[in-house]
Amino acid sequence: MSAVTLTDIVKRFGSFTALHRMSMEIAEGNFVTLLGPSGCGKTTTLRMIAGLLDPTEGEIRIKGRRMNEVPIHKRNLGLVFQNYALFPHKTIAENVAFGLKYRSVPKAEAARRVSETLELVQLPHVGDRYPKQLSGGQQQRIALARALVIEPDVLLLDEPLSALDANLREDMRVELKRIQHRIGVTTVFVTHDQSEALAMSDLVVVMSDGRVEQIGAPEEVYNTPETEFVARFLGAANIVEARSLGADGGSIGIEAPDFGRLEIPRERAPKLNGAGPAKLVIRAEKLHLALPDATTEGMVSAPGVVETVDYQGQAARYFVRVGDRQLQAVNMIDERPFAEGTAVSVQLRPRDCAALPVGGKPG
Ligand code: ATP
Repeated sequence: MSAVTLTDIVKRFGSFTALHRMSMEIAEGNFVTLLGPSGCGKTTTLRMIAGLLDPTEGEIRIKGRRMNEVPIHKRNLGLVFQNYALFPHKTIAENVAFGLKYRSVPKAEAARRVSETLELVQLPHVGDRYPKQLSGGQQQRIALARALVIEPDVLLLDEPLSALDANLREDMRVELKRIQHRIGVTTVFVTHDQSEALAMSDLVVVMSDGRVEQIGAPEEVYNTPETEFVARFLGAANIVEARSLGADGGSIGIEAPDFGRLEIPRERAPKLNGAGPAKLVIRAEKLHLALPDATTEGMVSAPGVVETVDYQGQAARYFVRVGDRQLQAVNMIDERPFAEGTAVSVQLRPRDCAALPVGGKPG
C-alpha cells in the first residue's frame, strides 16, 4: 500500500491555478523530494498533504485512508519548516514532548521517547537547555526530533536546511538521510536545490508551473530527462536541436549538427518514438576537448574553438564555438587548460547523451 497518494489534485487561489491535476504515489518508507523552481507549487502540495490547505479538486490518501476531510492534528504527520519555530520559553525536552501531550502518552513513556529521539538526532544532553542556548543547526535537529517523537506516518519537510550555512547544510543532509534510513519513516522533502534532491532522495518529483514534469530515481531524472525543463533544471548545459532517424533495435539514430550521426541507447531516449525533430542533451562533463584532428575510439567529434575559459582549479569550464553554436565542456585539467582561441576537437560518446522529443511530446 502507498503511504501517500495524490489523485488529480487541482489547487486554485481565486482565478489563479497553482496546481493542475497533479497525481503521485509515494511508497512506504521512501524519501521523496519535490524539486522545482520558486513558485512551481512544491509548498502548496506539501501543505495539502499536511492538511494546512484544502485541494480545490482531487483526493489525498495517507496509508489508503481518504484525508480530504481529516483535520491536520488527526493526520499523524511530522512537520518541519525552514524557520523551525521552537517555543522559546520551553526547555528542549518540553519542546520535543509537545506533540505527545495531545496524544495522551503516559508520562514515563513520554520521557523515554523524548530521550530516545534526542539520542537519534545526536543531541542527548540538551534536554534541560532552552532554544536560544543552541546553534541554528542544533535547533533544526530539535525541530526534527519534535516532528519524529510522535512516530508520524509521514514526515513532511519544507526546505528545512535552507536557513543553515553551506557547511552545516551538507552535514545536516547526511544526518537527515541517516535518521530517515534508520527509522524508515516515509518522507516528503521540498527543495529547489537539485544537488540536495539528488543526494537525498529515493524518488525525485520534478515540478514546473504547477505540473509534474517527471518522477524518477535521482539517476533517472539526471541521466534520462523526459523534458527540456528537467534537463535544464538538473544542470544539462547543452541542449542541441537535432533529428531523430527512428529506432533500430536497441538504439535510436540521431542526426546532430556538426557531430553527424549518433547511435544513442534506446533507454536514453525513452520518449522518442518515430523519426522527426528532437533535442540532444549533452552534459558539459561529457564533452571532451582534445587536440585538433584527434580521434578517440567510440567517440564522435566536431571541430571547435575555445572562446572562454572559466578556471575552476582541478577542472575548467570551457565555452567552445562549434559550428554556429556555443557549447560548454567541463574537463579535468591534466597539465594546463586550453587557452582562449585554441582550435580543438570536441568529442562525445553517444551513449553519454540523452535525446528528447521537441515540445515534450513523443516524436
Ligand atoms: P517556493 O520555493 O518559492 O516556496 P513553491 O514551489 O513552494 O515556491 P508555492 O508556495 O507552492 O511554490 O506557490 C505556488 C504558486 O501559488 C505561486 O505562484 C504562489 O504565488 C501561489 N500561491 C501560493 N499560496 C497562495 C495564496 N495563499 N494565495 C494566492 N496565491 C498563492
